[in-house]
Amino acid sequence: MQNGHMEARVPFLPSPHFNQRPEGVRINLIVLHAISLPPGTFDFSIVRDFFQGTLDTTVHRELSTLAGLRVSAHFLVHRDGSIYQFVRCRDRAWHAGMSCWQGVENCNDYSIGIEIMGDEQVPFTSAQYREVARLCRCLMQCYPDITKERIVGHQHVAPGRKWDPGRQWDWQRFKRSLCRVRRLDLVFMT
Ligand SMILES: [Zn+2]
Repeated sequence: MQNGHMEARVPFLPSPHFNQRPEGVRINLIVLHAISLPPGTFDFSIVRDFFQGTLDTTVHRELSTLAGLRVSAHFLVHRDGSIYQFVRCRDRAWHAGMSCWQGVENCNDYSIGIEIMGDEQVPFTSAQYREVARLCRCLMQCYPDITKERIVGHQHVAPGRKWDPGRQWDWQRFKRSLCRVRRLDLVFMT
């Protein structure tokens, strides 16, 4: 504690699912996603193990389609708003797949991926709007090329192929949350 102020350190749970960004690339986009594993379930340990490459896909029948898949995101925001990091921002996480934003392909090269625990059936939580906004503002402070207009959904960079974060994610509400963020004190792995 210093001056009654404590930094909020984001827990780092390293994923092996990443590689290097192309030489000289500038991080200038955030891609928001929704995830629920198995579908309809908001189980942190399953998503964590999936991103860390340790998920036992034989435990749930619905998880068998995930066997051998190697994906990750830089961050995950759980239902209660808690934030976890899996890949350092300087590294390329594997979240967007085949994608394109404003004519520039392969969004993984130049974006930060944030997974929000949720699906298309259940509204996201207030804590998620608040904490995703806080995380985005902290990232914008660190990477000034990320403007408010450059926070997009997976559905926008991979239309027709991906639906998330989908119809439950209220973009107007999120933009209001972005304006309300006061504490830009998250500490994460750059
Ligand atoms: Zn996605």
